[in-house]
Amino acid sequence: MEPHYPFSLPPLPYGESDLLPEIDEKTLHFHHDKHFAAYVDNLNKLLAACPACQSWTLEQLCQYWCRLPGDLRQGIRNNAGGVYNHTLYFQGMTPTPGEGPDVALSAAIDRDLGGMSAFKSAMKTAALGVFGSGWAWLVCDREGTLSIRKTANQDTPLPLCPLLTCDVWEHAYYLQYQNRRGDYFDAWWQRVNWPMVSRLYGQCQENRPRYPQD
Ligand code: MN
Repeated sequence: MEPHYPFSLPPLPYGESDLLPEIDEKTLHFHHDKHFAAYVDNLNKLLAACPACQSWTLEQLCQYWCRLPGDLRQGIRNNAGGVYNHTLYFQGMTPTPGEGPDVALSAAIDRDLGGMSAFKSAMKTAALGVFGSGWAWLVCDREGTLSIRKTANQDTPLPLCPLLTCDVWEHAYYLQYQNRRGDYFDAWWQRVNWPMVSRLYGQCQENRPRYPQD
C-alpha cells in the first residue's frame, strides 16, 4: 500500500553535519526542516479540502493533477511535486557514496549516455540550464533507456522513472554557495547515493515503486 493523505515529513536519512564539507548543516537544516516540511504541510492542508483526493498516492497526485478540482489544482500540483522531488533528493545523497553505479547501471550509462564523464557533464549542463527554479534528473523509460531531463518549479518527470535528482532551487545552495550553482552541483555530485540510484534502476525495470519507500 503506497502512502496517501495525510502525508508526513520523511526524516533526514543522515545527520545535518554528515555531508560536510560539500553540503553544510545550515543548508540541510533549512532545506529539510523548513522548505521540505512546508511542502508536506501545505499539501495536507490542500487535501483536507478535497476528500475525493485523499486516497490518491503521491505519484497519482503528481501525474494526474490536471484531473483535480480547479481551485485546488495548481496548489496540489506544486506541493505534491515538492514532496515527491524532495523525498528523492534527500535520499539521493549519502555520507558514504560508495564506488559508483553498479554493473548494470554502469553498462546503461555507457550505452545511453556515453560513460560517466559524459553523464556528469550532461547532468551539469541540465542543472545549469534550468532557468529560475527547478530540477535536473536522471530518468529511465520502460525499456530501461536512460536520459537526462529538466523540470521547472516542482514538476516531476513522471511517468518516466526518476533515478536521481539535483535540486537547483536557490534554497538548495544559496546559503553555502550563493550564486555559484555549478560549484554546488560539483559538490552535490561527490555525495550522490550510487547504491540507491543503482537499486532504483533495477526496480524501475521490474516496474516496482518509483521512489524510495524505506
Ligand atoms: Mn528544495
